[in-house]
Amino acid sequence: MKIGGMLIGYYTLCPRKAWLSASGIEMEQESEAVALGRLLHETSYERTDKEVLLEAVYQGVTLVGKLDGANLRDKVLYEVKKSKSAEESHIWQIKFYLWLLALSGKPEFTAEIRYPLLRKTQEVVLEEGDAEKLGEMVLRLAELLRAETPPDRILQRKFCAKCAYEEYCYA
Ligand code: SF4
Repeated sequence: MKIGGMLIGYYTLCPRKAWLSASGIEMEQESEAVALGRLLHETSYERTDKEVLLEAVYQGVTLVGKLDGANLRDKVLYEVKKSKSAEESHIWQIKFYLWLLALSGKPEFTAEIRYPLLRKTQEVVLEEGDAEKLGEMVLRLAELLRAETPPDRILQRKFCAKCAYEEYCYA
């Protein structure tokens, strides 16, 4: 089992979404969103930065990260997002990447979430207690992904309206 930053982000929004995604259930709307995200990334910033792949192991769980990019000279990672509607999830996703680096002996990195459509950039750092929270999250998520069936739907319907799995969950 491998846990990546996108799954962590999904988990913070809705554990069911994380389970459905990890199970390989893809919805068309999701693919379109991913394609739009890629297009944004390719057109909004010059392509001098390198895509960064990360990997670490935490208590027997393999953790992986595929970042939109990084300024390796200044030690800043970044992710490009369309909107702030899932801001908390974006923050935990990129904190997860910072944590992977810290686990690999590189705790000096900071991060940015770039919102080109909003012309905004948010700085993110790993704060005290975040590593413990991420460790707990990873172990809970790993347990959840071992389950045969997905967890229940969340009650915050406003997230569902923007979720690719809405039809699947509410059909
Ligand atoms: S539609 Fe709602 S309950 Fe279903 S996966 Fe998405 S966020 Fe979760």
